[in-house]
Amino acid sequence: FAPWDDATEKPLIRFRNVTKNFGDFTAIDDLTLDIYAKEFFALLGPSGCGKTTLMRMLAGFEKPTTGTIELDGKDIANVPPNQRAVNMMFQSYALFPHLSVYENIAFGLKRSDMDKADIPARVDEMLRLTRLQKFAKRKPHQISGGQRQRVALARSLAKAPKLLLLDEPLGALDKKLRHETQFELMDIQEKTGTTFVIVTHDQEEAMTVASRVAVMDAGVIVQVATPDRIYETPNSVYVADFIGEVNLIEGHAAVDNGVATISWAEGQPPITAKTDLTADTQCTYAVRPEKITITQHEPQDRPNKIKGAVLDIAYLGNISTYHVELPDGKVIKAQTANDRRIARRSFTWEDTVWLSWTDTAGVVLTA
Ligand code: ATP
Repeated sequence: FAPWDDATEKPLIRFRNVTKNFGDFTAIDDLTLDIYAKEFFALLGPSGCGKTTLMRMLAGFEKPTTGTIELDGKDIANVPPNQRAVNMMFQSYALFPHLSVYENIAFGLKRSDMDKADIPARVDEMLRLTRLQKFAKRKPHQISGGQRQRVALARSLAKAPKLLLLDEPLGALDKKLRHETQFELMDIQEKTGTTFVIVTHDQEEAMTVASRVAVMDAGVIVQVATPDRIYETPNSVYVADFIGEVNLIEGHAAVDNGVATISWAEGQPPITAKTDLTADTQCTYAVRPEKITITQHEPQDRPNKIKGAVLDIAYLGNISTYHVELPDGKVIKAQTANDRRIARRSFTWEDTVWLSWTDTAGVVLTA
């Protein structure tokens, strides 16, 4: 299901030229963005880039200085937080310590206009959804951190909001539990069909859970796309560098008929890369380490190949990362899969090796 590929689909949320100033500081700068119904959308960026400010404007805790935000086609500027079909789940969960899991989930429903007789069925549904039936009678301090996180989620979803905002929801969990909970979140999002917008500074998390990711920098969205497009075709050095590992090589591209020939170092052959660029330009060539093959002998039929010496090796179980030093001192990272089923020679420090890659392995960036 990918409504964003369908121009006829109406967005659930529309930011139009939204600017948010705090005094003379601009936290959000002329931002335009559509988020569609049923999306799991991630806002990703370094601390201070404006992620939380965007969320707070959606929730109604802040108003844009200029610009409009629409929810379901209606301007929500003057709709107070409690009258928006929006709920926000905070990192601290904010569960009531003296209430049971069941009562925590029922709390918001009792204060809503839901018929009292319908509340137990709704709470049961939420307990089932978050696999908490066995814990209904326990207090928050009698359950684990992961379970508390699920109670908070159940409570946030009980009133069936159109939009759920999750601000670093897994920040308090350790790495393993965090990974498990990411899959649970995806599962629950899919089952309920609620639009989720998650704020995170963890790029792996954003790439795992989200159907689309917006990468932010200093109050603007630099790129918004599906995780694989963000990873494979970053639109700028900022995005390429922010997401995953990358080799960044500066040079000058001579462009001819969709192919860039990049001169980048004295004494090295130019890099060949397919590109959409049409004019010669200064550029940064970005290539992921796993796109680079490392071999003992000079490879044949590879458009790009360079010789170097192994400087460092990091063994990470399923993969190994090699740092290879070129004669001019520049270091290139290459990554290989450690798959025993494939007989692969491994290399050691100071081995002379060849690095090679194809003309579609990397991207030529000018921003
Ligand atoms: P983090 O990941 O650290 O939470 P963030 O991307 O969520 O960061 P925001 O909390 O949105 O960032 O803040 C964006 C910028 O706006 C920051 O520089 C912050 O200092 C500033 N800011 C946020 N709220 C206010 C406020 N009420 N008054 C003044 N400046 C603010």
